[in-house]
Amino acid sequence: MDTPQLNSLYQQLILEHYRNPRNKAELAEKTLEVHLANPVCGDEIRLQLRIEDDRIAAAKFVGSGCSISQAAVSMMTTLLQGRSLADADALAKRFTEMMHGSEEAAKDKALGDLRALRGVSKFPVRIKCALLGFDALQQALEKHPAGDKH
Ligand code: ZN
Repeated sequence: MDTPQLNSLYQQLILEHYRNPRNKAELAEKTLEVHLANPVCGDEIRLQLRIEDDRIAAAKFVGSGCSISQAAVSMMTTLLQGRSLADADALAKRFTEMMHGSEEAAKDKALGDLRALRGVSKFPVRIKCALLGFDALQQALEKHPAGDKH
């Protein structure tokens, strides 16, 4: 509905995450929380992380907004569970490259379901929607005391 020109298989995966978001809940023992909004589209998320020994022990979110923003953060939190902070940061950079049109990044299997969002890079107004989750993640990593050494 938002972006009819997207490849329909990808569109299905996006809608599937949107309708059945993974990790959408309050995280009881969070160590970091970042609230971000994309006023242009009305998207909003609160990303909650529990970081233990420079690893993301748990990642959850609460939010509302368009299918792209909510599916992206659902896909992202799925990939983040158990990752080192350096890995998480690398994923954020990779995804951002894909959103800015990098074909090479779009082929990177490390991005998992997030690759379904590659077509969004052709719709400049929607790129912010797709990046909302990772922008929140990068802010969270910066807030983390060890975040400056990755
Ligand atoms: Zn949006």
